[in-house]
Amino acid sequence: MTATKSYDVVVVGCGIAGLSAGLRAAEQDLSVAILEKAPEENRGGHTQFTESFRIPTADIDMDVEFNVEDYSASDFYRDIMKVTNYRADDDLAEVVTQESAETFEWLTDRGDDWDWEYQAPHPGYTAGRVWLDGEEMIDHYVPILEAEGIDFYYRADARGVNRGDDGRVESVTAFVDGQRTEFEADATILAAGDYGSSKEKRTRYYGRGYGNMKVRGSRYNTGEVIEAAMDIGAKSEGEWGDAHMALIDAGSPDVEGGITRIDGYQYGLILNHDGERFVDEGEDARAHTYAKFGQRIFEQPYHEAFIIVDSKVVDDVAHMGPSRAVTADSIDRLVQRLDIENVEQAVETVEEYNEACDSDAAEQYDPEVLDGNSTEGLELPKSNWALPLDEPPYTGYPVTGGMTFAFGGVAITPDAEVLDTTDTPIEGLYAAGNVTGGLFYNNYPGGTGLTNAAVFGKVAAESAAEYVNSEQ
Ligand SMILES: Cc1cc2nc3c(=O)[nH]c(=O)nc-3n(C[C@H](O)[C@H](O)[C@H](O)COP(=O)(O)OP(=O)(O)OC[C@H]3O[C@@H](n4cnc5c(N)ncnc54)[C@H](O)[C@@H]3O)c2cc1C
Repeated sequence: MTATKSYDVVVVGCGIAGLSAGLRAAEQDLSVAILEKAPEENRGGHTQFTESFRIPTADIDMDVEFNVEDYSASDFYRDIMKVTNYRADDDLAEVVTQESAETFEWLTDRGDDWDWEYQAPHPGYTAGRVWLDGEEMIDHYVPILEAEGIDFYYRADARGVNRGDDGRVESVTAFVDGQRTEFEADATILAAGDYGSSKEKRTRYYGRGYGNMKVRGSRYNTGEVIEAAMDIGAKSEGEWGDAHMALIDAGSPDVEGGITRIDGYQYGLILNHDGERFVDEGEDARAHTYAKFGQRIFEQPYHEAFIIVDSKVVDDVAHMGPSRAVTADSIDRLVQRLDIENVEQAVETVEEYNEACDSDAAEQYDPEVLDGNSTEGLELPKSNWALPLDEPPYTGYPVTGGMTFAFGGVAITPDAEVLDTTDTPIEGLYAAGNVTGGLFYNNYPGGTGLTNAAVFGKVAAESAAEYVNSEQ
């Protein structure tokens, strides 16, 4: 027999979007249920693997010293637009960037003694950010929501979003511990993350071979809630064929590897098995390239490439993966130890690159800023930090691309209302975070996933509360 539960608001998903939505809804005296597909010990989606939250430090009204440069909401907006090639939905980008300071202050205020880290952990992390441990953040906030009276349902796999004859969304069908349960609600907020952890959907949207890509985040983000919303008329939005695919250690676990990036590649070179470069390693700050370079690496032979640095910059490499770095006293030896297939071409590529570097570049080297030291005359330039690789020992790191999150989702308005395929809001249905599309295209500015999800979680709850109160 189908069990039935009734709430003012049902939130599907227990990542930062769901927690932000649930907390804000409860603050407005609404009864709230949060449905989480994972068991309690695995709750929190991709959010549990995160480490930084992008905020406009210049606009934050808190008694805190940030060690990263002043960064305003308009800088944040510009970065989103720049890295997405100006394809990000203007209105959504406006909401995320303008509301981010207030949302962060609210979360901090509600978090009591939660310790955000205000110091950047590695060189080259310049844009406004705070640092955190995602799993600890989830464990900190869930009890705060429970104290607000919110009911959490774990192993609650939402599969259906149901509309009444008048078109209004009136319930969510979920299997809780395998039992079919109908969650009736005046408003429903979808915060169930993306579909990137599904092998089948990676193959469907990115192509052959992508089913084997390593998954950095939660195994539970397989996108059924997006499909359920589309089944009742929600419009799909965003770049379905693209995703945040990060540059990670080639030895990372197949799933739920978390933070296994190798940062600092921008100070060296990246070669493939053919011994060729294939990206401008110094194109921009790491936070503006790592999410797209992973896909470029995955497209190379054997889905693998190799970062190579010399002793001048090795201390600026942040190696967070499980594999051991490989060292050697010559490039030739290093390339052989890394098992790069075309050794001759790899050595030639490094020699050509060295000749294209300015001989004074090392004196002007500054890992904290785009130092403008670029190569001269190479068809594929290196635009910043172009130092010759000439000081042994040399160090190499095998890397691959890791699935972080998919960019497609349901369409929302700036008030987080889910749109149907005629661009009309579906009554009673809201969405936030990675379940939505339209903000990220082609690339992604690091730290923005949490901000987007937290901001729109709060906005969704405010819109839902207004709707619920207007119905009573
Ligand atoms: C390894 C890694 C590191 C990252 N680091 C950062 C970072 O440092 N900074 C940053 O800003 N972003 C980072 N991101 C991106 C960031 O995690 C996401 O953008 C953000 O957490 C999205 O939040 P969300 O609440 O929308 O989704 P999620 O946190 O993924 O939450 C989705 C929730 O929905 C649940 N769910 C899924 N399907 C169902 C269903 N059918 N029924 C019920 N529940 C369901 C999931 O179990 C989960 O609890 C990282 C991602 C990964 C994978």
